[in-house]
Amino acid sequence: MMRTIKDIQIEGKRVFIRCDFNVPKDEDGNITDDRRIREALPTIRYCIDRDCKVILGSHYERPEPGKYEEKYSLAPVVRRLTRLLKIADDIQLASDVVGPDAQAKAAALQGGEVLVLENLRYEAGETKNDMAFAKALASMADVYINDAFGACHRAHASIDAMARLYDKEHKAAGFLLAKEVKFFEKTLEDPVRPFVAVVGGSKVSGKLEALRQLLDKVDKIIIGGGMAFTFLKAQGFEVGNSLVEDDLLDEARTVMIKARKEGVKFYLPVDVVCASEFSESGIAKYLPTQEIPKGWMGLDIGPASSRLFREVLNDAQTIIWNGPMGVYEMDKYAKGSMMMSHYIAETHATTIVGGGDTADVAQRAGDVDEMTFVSTGGGASLNLIEGKKLPGIEALKA
Ligand code: AMP
Repeated sequence: MMRTIKDIQIEGKRVFIRCDFNVPKDEDGNITDDRRIREALPTIRYCIDRDCKVILGSHYERPEPGKYEEKYSLAPVVRRLTRLLKIADDIQLASDVVGPDAQAKAAALQGGEVLVLENLRYEAGETKNDMAFAKALASMADVYINDAFGACHRAHASIDAMARLYDKEHKAAGFLLAKEVKFFEKTLEDPVRPFVAVVGGSKVSGKLEALRQLLDKVDKIIIGGGMAFTFLKAQGFEVGNSLVEDDLLDEARTVMIKARKEGVKFYLPVDVVCASEFSESGIAKYLPTQEIPKGWMGLDIGPASSRLFREVLNDAQTIIWNGPMGVYEMDKYAKGSMMMSHYIAETHATTIVGGGDTADVAQRAGDVDEMTFVSTGGGASLNLIEGKKLPGIEALKA
C-alpha cells in the first residue's frame, strides 16, 4: 500500500510537494482549464494548516533545458493559485529552480507560507533524472510529497531520484495522487458489470498494450478515432487514405480473435465522416465504413455509429473512456466525440475519463461534472490500464 500524507508526520516541517501544474493556456497566455491547480489544493491546504513551510515544484510544457524562456514561466499558475487558495499572504515565486533565489526564499519561509519554484524543466537535470539536481531540490525540504499523478509515468528527477533520497517516514503521496491511483486500481480489479471500454485516438500502436489488458477485464469494447481504420482494414475493408498502421494489421486481427474467444463484444464504427483532405475547408460527407472512396479519409465517426455506441452503452455499469472518436480539434469532426461524451455522462454507470485529450473533450462538451472521475493524467492513466508500474509510485514505496 502506498502511504499518504496522512500517514506521516509533517507538522511544522519544510515540505516539498511535487505538483502537476502543466495546465493548458490559450495564445494570449490565459489558463483555459485550471482543474490541475484546483485538484492540488487539498494537499497544499493540509500542509498550510499544519504550519508547514511549503515548497511547490512543477514542470510546465517543454522548455529547452538550461534556458529560462518567459513563456514557460509558472507565473500565471502562481497568480491563479493565489486566487484559489484565498490566503492573506502572497505566494512567492522563485526566479530559479535550485539557484540562489530559490535557496534564499526557501530558507526565509515561515510556517504556513508557500513558495513555488520556477519550471523544473528549466534545469536539464529534471528530465535526465539527475541525482545532483535531485539533491539540490531535497536540500530545501525535510519531507517529500508527490501529488503529480500526470507526471508519475516519467522517471524524472523530481519524481524518481528525489523521492529516493527520503526514507519511508519522510515521503508520501498527496491526496490527489492517492485518489487517482485508488480509483483506477479499484475499477480495474473489481468493476461492476457490464464493464465497457471506449477507446479512441489516433493510433493503435500507442494503445495496443492497453487494449490487450482491457480484453481480460471488460465485457465490451468500443473503438473509434483513427485507430478504428487499422481494425477495419484488418477485416478486409477499403479505408482510402484514412490513418492506418499497416504493420499492425496482424496484431489488430489477433485482438479481434481474442475478443471473440473471450466473449468480449468488439464494436467498430459502421459509418464515418469522410473528407478528401485533412482540413475543415473541403467537402465532408457521411458514408458507411464499407464505402469510403479511394483517396478519401475518415475523420470522425458518423451518426449511425453514434447511435449504435449509445445502445452499447445503455446497460453499462462501469465505463472507462480513453481517446477521442475523431479529429475533435476541428469543429467539423468533433461531433462524434461530443456525442460520445454526452452519452457516457448520461448513463448511470461509474464513468472514468482518462486525462489528456479525452478530458479536454469532456470539458468542451460540458460533461465533466457528470462524470464520476476525470483523471488529470493521460499517459499515466494509460500506463495503469496497461498494468505497468509507474516510476513515481515505485519511488514512493522504495
Ligand atoms: P491519442 O493521442 O492517440 O489519444 O490521439 C488523439 C488524437 O487523435 C487527436 O489529436 C485526434 O485529432 C486524433 N484523431 C482522432 N480520430 C482521428 C482520425 N480519424 N484520423 C486522424 N486523427 C484522428
